[in-house]
Amino acid sequence: MATCDLLIVGSGLFGLTMAERAVNEHGLNVTIIDRRDHLGGNAYSEKDAETGIEVHKYGAHLFHTSNERVWEYVNRFTTFTGYQHKVYTNHRGVVYPMPINLGTINQFFQAALSPDEARALIAEQAGELAGTDPENLNDKGISLIGRPLYEAFIKHYTGKQWQTDPKDLPASIISRLPVRYTYDNRYFNDTHEGLPTDGYTAWLERMADHPKIEVKLATDYFDTSQPLNRDAVRGQLPVVYTGPVDRYFDYAHGDLKWRTIDLETERLDTGDFQGTSVMNYADEDVPFTRIIEPRHFHPERDYPKDRTLIQREYSRFAERHDEPYYPVNGTADRETLLAYRELADAEQRTLFGGRLGTYKYLDMHMAIGSALTMADNDLPDLLRA
Ligand code: FAD
Ligand code: UDP
Repeated sequence: MATCDLLIVGSGLFGLTMAERAVNEHGLNVTIIDRRDHLGGNAYSEKDAETGIEVHKYGAHLFHTSNERVWEYVNRFTTFTGYQHKVYTNHRGVVYPMPINLGTINQFFQAALSPDEARALIAEQAGELAGTDPENLNDKGISLIGRPLYEAFIKHYTGKQWQTDPKDLPASIISRLPVRYTYDNRYFNDTHEGLPTDGYTAWLERMADHPKIEVKLATDYFDTSQPLNRDAVRGQLPVVYTGPVDRYFDYAHGDLKWRTIDLETERLDTGDFQGTSVMNYADEDVPFTRIIEPRHFHPERDYPKDRTLIQREYSRFAERHDEPYYPVNGTADRETLLAYRELADAEQRTLFGGRLGTYKYLDMHMAIGSALTMADNDLPDLLRA
């Protein structure tokens, strides 16, 4: 490819969507760089060499959306299976359905309550917080499901996952989980859900499969020994940057806090370890948050009957050299972010996007949706600048 009209830093779903739009809508030549040795960002998956099971390298990824534009868009690159995500949780050696629903409530209280009776019980147990709209996760959790259920299923799991007092976490984290007074235990409420039929990587590669898109892997934007680095490119070329925003500005306003995860993989001589794809562990004395058994994401595939693979997931704060996964978004982070946003707005010929570039908890459909919007609204101005 002769020229590069637009440089995209990061080949995750945000960068890939921007690249695809820039080429097919604006006719540009696009170069995508990624510091990893594969494209696709955190949604990347690969086939385990020993078992043939598709493994989500950076943690379980379930696609779901109610955004019709995003659904139509993603279906240009892949079909989706009919997989519907369901999660169970182990509390004191007993397994309950998650998110909290009438089944969880009746099992926990050893009862046969009707929806109205369960609502009345939870309202009573939420005490003075019932029906209020608190801003922190602890109070929000109690207001939604009452103290006993909160303490059994949320308090310690959240403590393990975020290593932060739930009183210092935003209520929005727990608001992602529905509470249902029916026996419906689907994890997501969205209209569309499924897993890419041929796997995530086939989908992600198709998005970049165009003669006008060049992908350079193992190429870090901050490595001055490669020509497309920040110091050389700054102000010279239009750029869409999807790496961490604090890193871009050399941590001038300090580090934004991130959470990362460690996955401990084990292969076992059984065709089924836990009977489901995700089992959470709600209690304090179990050090991991959940066990993922990826074979259950694709019951339609012909996987081995006598071998399986599991991943135990541990959560901790990220250091600078770790992969930043989840923005912690504490009070101090929110102030730091405002300072970085000002710098980002003033940065010439560079747009910041994606989960890392905006320090926002974006699901895949949100990353794609925001990239489609940015390609419509901001890309033309970036190209004119
Ligand atoms: P990313 O996928 O993180 O891509 C950013 C890319 O930029 C990376 O490839 C990185 O290597 C590259 N990069 C960073 N810095 C540089 C640099 N200096 N130079 C070059 N390249 C650089 N979403 C769902 O919808 N459902 C789920 O079930 C789900 N589960 C998740 C589980 C985990 C553990 C995680 C971490 C995320 C999950 N997500 C899920 C969110 C999903 O991963 C994101 O929405 C999606 O990856 C966002 O894409 P992105 O392009 O913004 O970021
Ligand atoms: N959560 C919990 N117990 C569970 C599942 C979730 O306490 O069994 C809380 C926890 O605080 C978590 C939040 O609900 O961070 C959102 O859950 P989700 O499954 O969306 O977490 P993610 O997929 O982001 O890891």
